[in-house]
Amino acid sequence: MTAKTRQQEDQGEEIMADSSQVVKMAKKAFLSGKTRSIKFREKQLRQLLKMYEENEDQILSALATDLCKPRQEAITTELEVLKNDLLHIIYNFKDWAKTEKPSKSAVNILDEVRILRVPYGTVLVVGTWNYPFLISLQPLAGAIAAGNTVVVKPSELAPDSAEVMAKLVPKYLDPTCYHVVTGGVPETTELLRERFDYIFYTGSTEVGRIVHRAANQHLVPTTLELGGKSPVFLDSTADLDVAARRLLWGKCVNAGQTCVAPDYLLCSKQVQAEFVARAKALLRDWYGKGAIGSPDYGRVVSDKHYWRLTKLLENASVAVGGETDASVRFIGPTVLVNVKPSDPVMQEEIFGPIIPIIIVDSVFEAIDFINSREHPLTLHIFSKDRTVQEMIVSKTRSGSVCINETLLQMCVSSLPFGGVGYSGMGAYHGRHSFETFSHKRSVFVKNYNRIGEKLSASRYPPYSEGKTSFLKFLLKHRRGVNLSCISYFVVFALGVAAAFAGSALAQVISANEDET
Ligand code: NAD
Repeated sequence: MTAKTRQQEDQGEEIMADSSQVVKMAKKAFLSGKTRSIKFREKQLRQLLKMYEENEDQILSALATDLCKPRQEAITTELEVLKNDLLHIIYNFKDWAKTEKPSKSAVNILDEVRILRVPYGTVLVVGTWNYPFLISLQPLAGAIAAGNTVVVKPSELAPDSAEVMAKLVPKYLDPTCYHVVTGGVPETTELLRERFDYIFYTGSTEVGRIVHRAANQHLVPTTLELGGKSPVFLDSTADLDVAARRLLWGKCVNAGQTCVAPDYLLCSKQVQAEFVARAKALLRDWYGKGAIGSPDYGRVVSDKHYWRLTKLLENASVAVGGETDASVRFIGPTVLVNVKPSDPVMQEEIFGPIIPIIIVDSVFEAIDFINSREHPLTLHIFSKDRTVQEMIVSKTRSGSVCINETLLQMCVSSLPFGGVGYSGMGAYHGRHSFETFSHKRSVFVKNYNRIGEKLSASRYPPYSEGKTSFLKFLLKHRRGVNLSCISYFVVFALGVAAAFAGSALAQVISANEDET
């Protein structure tokens, strides 16, 4: 064995030992039962809020280093979204955690039925780099509220943000219950070998498959928050000034590195001409002589992504922008025209500040185009025509729909956020995060009441046609009967009457059977 391979092997063993130690500790903490306490969970959630409030400068500085994120974007699209979703959870999670008493059918009138929201156990949250704090810590809040212990693995592509999380989380939260593991693919791979009770992954569809395969080994339930090409349909009924502004803003925030950013535009030739003219004027208004000199425009996260994106510009017809600078990983906001569906830019999620335009002559053509591709994470419609809006919504599939706007659906805590098909499975934010990390445990309690026993005695052998008929009568689901509205006693009396009628019927039938 060479020195290098021995060193690599030693490193591998170290990573393995580290991650299995962390997971062991998190599992032990779960079994200690402390996260079952609602008070404990609330304290942790409030500590998380305190962590954001007391370390804003550190968080903003890490985002500036990792992604050159402008301060306003970092505050409004990351930090404030995190805080508001967390506050929504803090104010409401005690209600969400309450035992549910579901409705019962006549046959169960004497029984007790409950649905408990219980934690899965120890959860793994694997994050990506584009909104590094938001993507790793928003699921963490949901997992804490639901009573789990958690291991968070932030992305190695935003290393400063990952380090800040690794430093702050154990300082503010219970260090036995909540852990941050930093590192790259080897560390994530080792974590995926462990047996978690739930895995929550955000990142590319390709790695999503790896995570899903790993989860399958132990049949672990999984949420996959993935990506894909999110289309925009823009028609001439839209307010084109406002639509162009909102659309371009959605593409320029974080230099287009947003999972729900508009990926490509579907419109007519005439709308394309109007959009291109407005885009040129808007970008001049926003960034002056060029986005490269503006403090309000971010950078591409890594050289790999920079070269991937500039390759998409090769041989392309640039109508707006097109400026690049490898030394600072800058790509200016760029609009491409004369794009064919077979072009490289239409084959993969762009995840950068480039908008290709595909010409469609009608809303029907746009719908066919969208349906010929994988289901997007989100679908944007810019149109004032309600019929057009409804037609697109009803004839396509996507994780979410955003009409006459971009990105903002992510900030509404009551809306579930997630994909469908290749753009993901499962959803979170607000109550949906709590539900995602809770197992619905049903509890059925029967007592030893004699009348109840008499009512259900027909289930015991020896079986007979009479007993079967009676049980069918008892078990039949009756439409429109809302037992919660009917007095318990009325139903009980009906049940007893039915029992006597049923047993009389059973006796008649069995007497007839004896005679024949
Ligand atoms: P990434 O490279 O940061 O990877 C994400 C995580 O997966 C990291 O923690 C990394 O360590 C791990 N990972 C990467 N390769 C791995 C491998 N081979 N084996 C095991 N683990 C591995 O992120 P990315 O994949 O470049 O993320 C960008 C994608 O994420 C885009 O497609 C974007 O649309 C999507 N995204 C989705 C959402 C959402 O909420 N749906 C949010 C943000 C980003």
